Amino acid sequence: MKTILEKIKNRKKTLFSFEILPPLRGRNINSIYKIINTLNDFNPAFCSITYHREEIVYKKLDNDFLQEKIVRKRPGTVAIAAAIQNKFPNLSVIPHIICGGFSDEETENALIDLHFLEINNLLALRGDSMKCENSFNPEKNGHKYSIELVKQIINLNKGKYLDNELENSEKTNFSVGVAAYPEKHSEAPNLDFDLKFLRKKIDAGASFIITQMFYDNKKFFYFVKKCRDIGIKVPIIPGLKPISTKKQISIIPHIFNIDIPEKLVNQVLKCKNNKEVRKIGINWAIEQSKELIDFGVPDLHFCKKNF
Ligand code: FAD
Repeated sequence: MKTILEKIKNRKKTLFSFEILPPLRGRNINSIYKIINTLNDFNPAFCSITYHREEIVYKKLDNDFLQEKIVRKRPGTVAIAAAIQNKFPNLSVIPHIICGGFSDEETENALIDLHFLEINNLLALRGDSMKCENSFNPEKNGHKYSIELVKQIINLNKGKYLDNELENSEKTNFSVGVAAYPEKHSEAPNLDFDLKFLRKKIDAGASFIITQMFYDNKKFFYFVKKCRDIGIKVPIIPGLKPISTKKQISIIPHIFNIDIPEKLVNQVLKCKNNKEVRKIGINWAIEQSKELIDFGVPDLHFCKKNF
C-alpha cells in the first residue's frame, strides 16, 4: 500500500480524501462501504478513520439510582481500517491513534497489530479529555502529548521496542501524520506557542499534517506561511467540513475553537430549514476548495460523515 507521502509526491492534481467515524456500537459496517462506493468514483487518495475513546454514561436503575458505566460508543477503528484496505485496495487508510486511554505498552500492542495488518499510515493524536475531566489526563505510563506517541512510533520504525532487551527486533514502516490548528489549539495561549510544539512533532518524525477544519481560507494561508517560516516543510493538508445544520453555527466555534465568518453565519441564519443550510454549506466548501487548490494544497480532506 502506497504511503500518503508517495501519493502526494506523485500527484498530477490536488488529491481528495475524507474522514469517517466508526459506526455506533450495534450498527454495521455496510453504511461505510456504501459511502466509499459512492466516493470511489472520484478516486479519493485516502480515508482517515477516527478513534473514539471510552466515555462515562449514567444509566437509570429501577430504583431511580444512577449507575456509572464506561462505554466506547464507536469501537472498531483498526478493524474498519483493515476491512477497507481489504475491500478497496486503491484507497489508503489512515487510522487515528490517540494517547488517551492507552498506556505505552497498550500503544505498542496496538502498533504491532497495525504493522501485522500492513496498515502503515497513521495519524497520531493526543485525544481530548474525557467529558467528566477538566483537563487531559494520561493513563499511568501513557503519553501526555502527541509528540510522545510520535516518538514511540518512530522508535518502532527503528526496531526499538519498550523492552530494550529484545534482540533483532522487527522494524515497522509507519508514516505518521499529526494534527494542527490554523486558529490554534484551544489550550494553547497563542498560535506561536502551538506552532513551536508542532515543529517539535515534525522534528520527532511526523511527515505530514492534517489541520483542524476552518471556514476562512485567509487563516489557513497565514498558518501555512508561519509554518514555513519556522522550517516546517512537510505537506499540510487542510481539513474541511461543510456546514449542514443551523445548530452547527454555534456548536462548531465552541467545540473546535474556530471562527465562522460573518458572511457564512448570515447566509445560514436566513435559511428556512437544514436542507437550505446544507446547500449553503456545500457552496461555501466548494468556494473554499477552489481557492485552496489555486494555493497549491496537496489534498483536500473532508471531515466527518456520521453513520
Ligand atoms: P498535542 O499535539 O499533544 O497538543 C495538545 C496541546 O498541548 C496543544 O495546545 C499544544 O500546543 C500543547 N503541547 C503540545 N506538546 C506540548 C509540550 N511538550 N509541552 C506543553 N504543551 C504542549 N481526537 C480524538 O479523540 N480522536 C480522533 O480521531 C481525532 N481526530 C482528529 C483529527 C484531526 C485532523 C484533528 C485536528 C483533531 C483530531 N482529534 C481527535 C482531536 C484532538 O485529539 C484534540 O484536538 C486534542 O485536544 C489535541 O490533540 P493533538 O494531537 O493536537 O495534541
